[in-house]
Amino acid sequence: MHIYTKQIPDFPAYDVIIVGSGSAGATAAIAAGRAGAKVLLLERLPFLGGTSTAVLDTFYGFYTPGTRSIRVVSGISEDVMNGLRAYESWLERPNTHGAGTGVTYHPEYLKVVWEKLVRAAGVDILLNAQVLDVQARQGLVSALIVATKSGLRRYTSKVVIDASGDADVCHFAGIGYELAGDIDPAQTLTTTFKLVNVDVARRKTVSKKEFHALMAAAAESGHYQLPRKEGSDHITPVDHMTATIMTRLPSYRKNGDTVVNATDPELLSSAEIEGRVQAIEYIRFLRDKVPGYEKAQLATFGVHIGVRETRRVYGHYRLTRDDVLHAKQFDDQIALCGAPIEDHHGGADTAWGYLPDGQCVGVPFRTLVPRDGQNVLVAGRCFSASHDAHAAVRSMGQTMAMGQAAGTAAVQAARADGLIASVNLTGLRDQLRKDGAILEL
Ligand SMILES: Cc1cc2nc3c(=O)[nH]c(=O)nc-3n(C[C@H](O)[C@H](O)[C@H](O)COP(=O)(O)OP(=O)(O)OC[C@H]3O[C@@H](n4cnc5c(N)ncnc54)[C@H](O)[C@@H]3O)c2cc1C
Repeated sequence: MHIYTKQIPDFPAYDVIIVGSGSAGATAAIAAGRAGAKVLLLERLPFLGGTSTAVLDTFYGFYTPGTRSIRVVSGISEDVMNGLRAYESWLERPNTHGAGTGVTYHPEYLKVVWEKLVRAAGVDILLNAQVLDVQARQGLVSALIVATKSGLRRYTSKVVIDASGDADVCHFAGIGYELAGDIDPAQTLTTTFKLVNVDVARRKTVSKKEFHALMAAAAESGHYQLPRKEGSDHITPVDHMTATIMTRLPSYRKNGDTVVNATDPELLSSAEIEGRVQAIEYIRFLRDKVPGYEKAQLATFGVHIGVRETRRVYGHYRLTRDDVLHAKQFDDQIALCGAPIEDHHGGADTAWGYLPDGQCVGVPFRTLVPRDGQNVLVAGRCFSASHDAHAAVRSMGQTMAMGQAAGTAAVQAARADGLIASVNLTGLRDQLRKDGAILEL
């Protein structure tokens, strides 16, 4: 039941509203703004970037892994890279055949880069603004109810892009989705942390294999509580500072037909708290056991726990594991992905599944179009894919490419009747190519 005791004030209408400013939403906003539409970007955090700035520091997915490092994502992501280059605070991490070549950046600069690019595109930005409900009928979203410091507000637009990562708009609008954890085990949660005062040269004397062996031995000794035995650390653009993807927390519970995952407030709250405790345990291990970390100090935890998957909408197409592993191509593809399936499941290791060397799967536009929606697109980690396909295509290179496609398509729809069905696919793909996107190899 929806009950509001006060009249909610209306705010001026937009062509396109984007909910969530992660790598997908911020890119969508830039694309839509550059196309000349009146655009609003709503973000619940006090800065742009979502996971890209709150949790992480490395873009994957720009390149294929394996023997040939081929660039497969460009367009607006290149402007983001140029923005970072201006601050001289990024570095390329070589293709080690994991997820391929990574671009590690300083997330505080990335916040500013996103803000500059979004503003330069003429987009209105509202930070600390959480969409907590929508008004919708049969998949046609007529208004967004937004919680702000000054109370609830009602915003309207012709088209809405749900880039909330968690498909919040679709959830509130009654648009169908798969709850991660329902069909396949959901990927785990990770509290990231950074350490300073690391002797990086000394740390480099330990190979990845030896590092994992130290972690496994510490866990098996019973003196350290380390659920993941293949956690990783990496250098950052800041001297003597490293960052980690190391902790591992359960992201869902299943009781019969009932699934509770990281969209559940209680589960998320306790994961945030336990994540920090677990991070401190990993730091104790690093300092005690890993050369180079003897004098390391904790610098920061991620702003919030890293959430890999929660809700994936049912779109007009659902990308599958087979599509990814066979590098399937589609007539309506709007992006490419060469990144492998990287499943941070509940066990001690990570499961990998590679595409044929140097090849990519296409990301169909239909995976951004909710089956039950009319004027709604999704972009980013809530797109339409199976658990496995999602585990490949969720890298930030691909979420940015999806964002560019969604922002461009939303403007096309807004200029017609507001319905996504009015998007002209040939026109969309031509525009994306003009704007630097890579749609085929
Ligand atoms: C621990 C971890 C490690 C990873 N490692 C890598 C890596 O090294 N490289 C890589 O490329 N990818 C990595 N990934 C995957 C990648 O980071 C994500 O898939 C990607 O960042 C998702 O982008 P997004 O824009 O879809 O969602 P998000 O970045 O999650 O953005 C969603 C945004 O929406 C906002 N929001 C949510 N709900 C609302 C609401 N109701 N109202 C308003 N705003 C809202 C959020 O605050 C957020 O800003 C990792 C993911 C995790 C969790």
